[in-house]
Amino acid sequence: MTELTPQSEKVLARLRILREMDAPTSGGRVLSYLYDTGMAELDELAAQAIRIMQPVNGLDPTTFPSVAAMERDVIAFTRRMLNGDAGQESGADNEVVGTVTSGGTESCLLAVKTARDVWRAAGGEGTPRLVAPATVHAAFHKAAQYFGLELDLVPVDAAGRVDPAALIDRFGEDVALVVVSAPAYPHATLDPVETIATAAAHAGIACHVDACIGGWVLPWWGGALPAWDFRVLGVTSMSADLHKFGYAPKGVSVLLHRGRDRQRHQYFATKRWPGYPVVNPTMLGSKSAGALAAAWAIMLRLGNDGFADLAASCRRSTDALASAIHAIEGLRVVGEPTGPLLAVATDESVPADRRVDPHNWADGVRQLGWLLQQQPGLLQSDGTRLPHTTHLTITPVTESVRERLIAALQQAADGVRGIEAANGNRLLVALPPLADDAGPLTSVQAAALLAQLGLGADGITLPEKMAPLVAVIEALPAPLAERLLIELLGRLVEPAGFSATETSQH
Ligand SMILES: *Cc1c(COP(=O)(O)O)cnc(C)c1O
Repeated sequence: MTELTPQSEKVLARLRILREMDAPTSGGRVLSYLYDTGMAELDELAAQAIRIMQPVNGLDPTTFPSVAAMERDVIAFTRRMLNGDAGQESGADNEVVGTVTSGGTESCLLAVKTARDVWRAAGGEGTPRLVAPATVHAAFHKAAQYFGLELDLVPVDAAGRVDPAALIDRFGEDVALVVVSAPAYPHATLDPVETIATAAAHAGIACHVDACIGGWVLPWWGGALPAWDFRVLGVTSMSADLHKFGYAPKGVSVLLHRGRDRQRHQYFATKRWPGYPVVNPTMLGSKSAGALAAAWAIMLRLGNDGFADLAASCRRSTDALASAIHAIEGLRVVGEPTGPLLAVATDESVPADRRVDPHNWADGVRQLGWLLQQQPGLLQSDGTRLPHTTHLTITPVTESVRERLIAALQQAADGVRGIEAANGNRLLVALPPLADDAGPLTSVQAAALLAQLGLGADGITLPEKMAPLVAVIEALPAPLAERLLIELLGRLVEPAGFSATETSQH
């Protein structure tokens, strides 16, 4: 290894200081975003794999065949795991083929783009529609917006379940894609894949199973799950994120399609410019092969048995946490979660003074050193309201801290039992009246509103209690809330707010 100069050491020292601002990325303290095996050796394997691939450009697998070689291995493993190996021998072109993408969002975006282009190639005209349960991941909202589809969301019941008949009722000639989830992120609901995909096939509609979060853990979950993968013939595409329960560092997911000809609509190619002929299976041009290499290394190292052991650990912890939360007076687990994630809501069956608000609870848990994720409630198109919940993603590392975590969950509940949920509308009264018809906010107006909410332009440090803020987001009309969120993130990276890192001193 090359020795670093003192100047370089100084830069790295500064990076380490920056990292101290982050939520703890190991130790199981953060129950979302991170997927931690708790195996330090596996993290080192991933780091060294990234290091080996560091100079490579994943843009061109003919110049860098190692990229294609790893990708073939990853796709082969994923296809077997998702029961997509059949169909190779049948004369029809039904072979399941795929690509590695930069993450779940890119997999979902490309699934939608592909379905739209297949629909158009088959003669579809006008605005295509994307039908999905209301719990479908936000990445599909983004895809509909980016690629010009109308998003047709079907309300779910209080347990997060969609009525398949109601969803199938929405089918029509203009539907380019139906999306179901295995499971959906908000409440871990496993959608009725077989019923919906089979009906879609009869109607000639493509069906994507979003297994971004479940793809790399449900195959080893145990119990008799209803078929949710390529065993269902109506399933035309699936996404499964390696940077979730594939335990890879961020930036890697798999998108599979049934049928080469369908999948070729995913690609972009052009020779109509004076530069090199371009052909891209995914959205990026030049790209890192680092996360792919890390995912590949972890996959080879773990193999089927390794993934099975880690899934079993997730299962034990999920069951233990679900029972522990069930036993906390005033809280309940929503629906029947399938997979290592839980949504927790208020138990309305106990008297008001015994209830626990899940967002107050999450704030209490945060003060004890654990980060849960607060999910706002949702008013659905049929007027029913899904209550706000608190989300936990359980990973293998959870098992090593489980009893301490459960104690914190209980202690925090005791601390906030009987305390009412933050009332977003009441908090909004403190703001200057927001005219509905004032037109789009300017950045200056949006920043002023954020400041009123206690999030100044340099408001990088979040308030101690997040529940009131989430309640305000929930109470605001969606376009306004979304505009404020955009302003918050936009301001976060403006150079004026960058003083902490002393760049100007050089
Ligand atoms: C995580 C996730 C996605 C995509 O998210 P990325 O953050 O881009 O990886 C899509 N669908 C589901 C169900 C997910 O859990």
